[in-house]
Amino acid sequence: YHGDAQGELKIENVSYTYYGSTQTVVKNVSIDLKQGEKLALLGRTGCGKSTLLQLLTRSWDPQQGQISIDGKPLPTWSEGALRKAITVVSQRVDIFNGSLRENLVLAKPNGTDAEFTEALIQVGLSPLLEDKGLDTWLGEGGRQISGGERRRLGIARALLHDAPILLMDEPTEGLDRRTEQQILALLLEHAKDKTVLFITHRLVGLDKMDQICLMDEGEIIERGKHQAL
Ligand code: ATP
Ligand code: MG
Repeated sequence: YHGDAQGELKIENVSYTYYGSTQTVVKNVSIDLKQGEKLALLGRTGCGKSTLLQLLTRSWDPQQGQISIDGKPLPTWSEGALRKAITVVSQRVDIFNGSLRENLVLAKPNGTDAEFTEALIQVGLSPLLEDKGLDTWLGEGGRQISGGERRRLGIARALLHDAPILLMDEPTEGLDRRTEQQILALLLEHAKDKTVLFITHRLVGLDKMDQICLMDEGEIIERGKHQAL
């Protein structure tokens, strides 16, 4: 399928075991999100949250069960259409050896310098623009950026990539409390009409979610609304 996605996301009885491992890290997980619905996924470290998220972007395919967007199974989506359907803020943000512009353009291939600059300002990265602006070189042989700046760059990319589904894996990990509030507010405003899967171990932002799922050892052991859990 090559078309545009609406953003309905369905995970049906999905299980996944890493190649060469005996441990099933995602066990029989089902999640149903209508277009625009928002779900927070909580659970302790190593319980399988990031693995589940990576199944959604087809880093790997599950051995059991099915994932579909708009009722169409993921394997029927073309790579390009899937990339247009989903924005990911991954737990580790990759920075390329390249200019600031090159580090943003992948998120929005037809983006303008004005749009890139605006996104950087929104996430509080305007100090990076001093001196050489978007030509500032990052990575090896360039400006070294801190963990927090790296995170913010990941968020700027997400703001530029306007897809109907937003997947966030601990997007504010390592940021101080106040920055966390600001960044999360920015992301949730951006995602107002989008379908969201938000992995977190913090309690910030949960009141904006329609569903909250608690994962343990690969399984979803509890579901509910904010107040219920
Ligand atoms: P955290 O909160 O620390 O990010 P998580 O819930 O995201 O944890 P995962 O990264 O999904 O957990 O890992 C789930 C399990 O799968 C862990 O036991 C982990 O060691 C294992 N695992 C993760 N990636 C791989 C891999 N590439 N190959 C084999 N095992 C892996
Ligand atoms: Mg993880």
